[in-house]
Amino acid sequence: MLGYAARGAVWVAIYLAFVLAPLFALMLGSLPPPRDFWTEFSAALGYAGLAMMGLQFGLTARFRYVTAPWGEDVIYHFHRRLSLVAIGLIIAHPLILFAVRPELVALLNSIQAPWRARFAALSTYSLIALVVMALWRVQLNIRYETWHLAHIALALVAVGAGLLHMIGWGFYLTDPWKRGLWIGLTMFWIGLLIYVRIVKPLFILRRPYLVSEVREERGDTWTLAMQPEGHPGFGFRPGQFGWLTLTGSPFKITGHPFSFSSSAATTDGRVEMSIRKLGDLTARIDKTPVGSRVYLDGPYGAFTIGNPADMHVLIAGGVGNTPMMSMMRTLADRGDKRPVVLIYGSKNWESITFREQLEALRERLNLTIVHVLSDPPAGWTGEQGRIDAEIFKRHLPPPFADHEYFICGPNVMMDAIEKALGELGAPMSKYHSERYSFV
Ligand SMILES: Cc1cc2nc3c(=O)[nH]c(=O)nc-3n(C[C@H](O)[C@H](O)[C@H](O)COP(=O)(O)OP(=O)(O)OC[C@H]3O[C@@H](n4cnc5c(N)ncnc54)[C@H](O)[C@@H]3O)c2cc1C
Repeated sequence: MLGYAARGAVWVAIYLAFVLAPLFALMLGSLPPPRDFWTEFSAALGYAGLAMMGLQFGLTARFRYVTAPWGEDVIYHFHRRLSLVAIGLIIAHPLILFAVRPELVALLNSIQAPWRARFAALSTYSLIALVVMALWRVQLNIRYETWHLAHIALALVAVGAGLLHMIGWGFYLTDPWKRGLWIGLTMFWIGLLIYVRIVKPLFILRRPYLVSEVREERGDTWTLAMQPEGHPGFGFRPGQFGWLTLTGSPFKITGHPFSFSSSAATTDGRVEMSIRKLGDLTARIDKTPVGSRVYLDGPYGAFTIGNPADMHVLIAGGVGNTPMMSMMRTLADRGDKRPVVLIYGSKNWESITFREQLEALRERLNLTIVHVLSDPPAGWTGEQGRIDAEIFKRHLPPPFADHEYFICGPNVMMDAIEKALGELGAPMSKYHSERYSFV
C-alpha cells in the first residue's frame, strides 16, 4: 500500500499524462503540412485545454482512492483552479488565431460560419457562462441546486461541442489510430460521468439507511442517528464526512456533505450527523420523520486522527465541532489516555453545541475544554473574542510543534488560526483542516 505522499505524486503524474500524452501523440505518425508557430501553438493550447476540461469530470467523481491523499475540499479547490487554467488555454486558442490570421475573425459570425466554428463558439460561450456562474453564484442569487444542475449541463455542452469542433477540423486526426485515441478519451470522460450519475447512485440505492432518532442539540443544531437497513453499513475514521440524501433517491443531483459526529468505534453501522439550520435543506432538518429512509455516500475526507501525537489539539468554531465530537468519542471508546485540548468558539454560553456531552466526555478522556465566547454573559471569566495565538500560548504547553492540530470552522477563523499556528512554529504537516465551504 502506497503512502499518501507517494499516492499523491502518482495521481499528479497520471493527471499530467492524461493531459499531455494525447497532445504529444498528435505529433507522431503522418503529419499535416506545417503551419506557422503561433497557429500550431494555439492548436496545442486548444487540445490541452479540452483534455483538462474532460478530466474535470474525474476530479469531482468522488473516487475515494484518488481524493484520500488530499481531502475533498482540496480536490474541489484544485478543480476550480484547473478549470480557470483550462478555460484560459481554450480562450487563448482563438484569440491567438485571430491575432495571427485576422481573416478568421469572420468565423465569429455564427450564421455564415461552418459547423466546426459554430461548435467552437458554443463551447467557448458555455465555458464562459460556467465560469461566471461558478465564481459569482452567490452574487447572482442562484440557488445551489439550480447552479449545480446548470454547471453539469454547461460542462457537458462545452466539452461535447469542443470535441465536435476538433473532429470537424480533423487537422491532426488523419491517422485512424489518432482518431481512435481521442474517441477512447471521450468514452473515458463519458464513462466517468455515467459512473458518478448512474453506477454509483445504484450502489447507494441498494444500501439505504433508516433515521432512528432526531435529537435537538444546543445552537440550532439537530443530530440525526441513522441505522443501515439490510446491510452492515460502512466504517469511517473519526473526522470524516459523508454525503446525505435526505429526500428522494441518490440519483438526485445534490447530496449534502456532513461530518459524522458519532464514535467511529461502533460496530453496528449506526452513524450520526449533527446538522445546523442554515439554508434550504437544513432549515427543515428537525422535521425529518423518525423511520424515514435516507441515503449516505461515504466515508470521505482526510481530516482524521491517526498520526503519532503527544496530544490532540482540536480547534472548532460553531458547527465545526461535529468532527471533533467524533474524534473525542472515538478516543474515549478506545480508552486513549493522551491529552486532548478542545478550543471551541461559540457565540454565547447557551448556544454551545454539545455543551453537556462535552462535560460528560471529561470523565472518559484526559480532556481540557477552553470555551471562547464572542458574546459572553455578564461575569464570564473565561476566554472571549476570537481564537488567536495568545489563547494558544495560554492553554497549550510548548513545544507547539509537537502537537497535532485539527481545525474546523468558518473560513475566516480557519485562515487566522492557520496563520497563528505558523507563527508559533507548528509545521504545516502538524495541522489539518476541514473547510465546510468548498467555495
Ligand atoms: C466536508 C463538509 C462537512 C460538513 N459538515 C457539516 C456538519 O457536520 N454539520 C453542518 O451543519 N454542516 C456541515 N457542512 C455544511 C453543510 O454541508 C451545508 O451547511 C449544507 O449543505 C447547506 O445546505 P442548505 O440546503 O441548508 O443550504 P443552502 O441555502 O442551499 O446553501 C447554503 C450554502 O451551503 C453550501 N451548500 C449547499 N448545498 C451544498 C452541497 N450539496 N454541497 C456542498 N455545499 C453545499 C453552499 O455554499 C451554499 O451557499 C459541511 C460541509 C462540508 C463541505
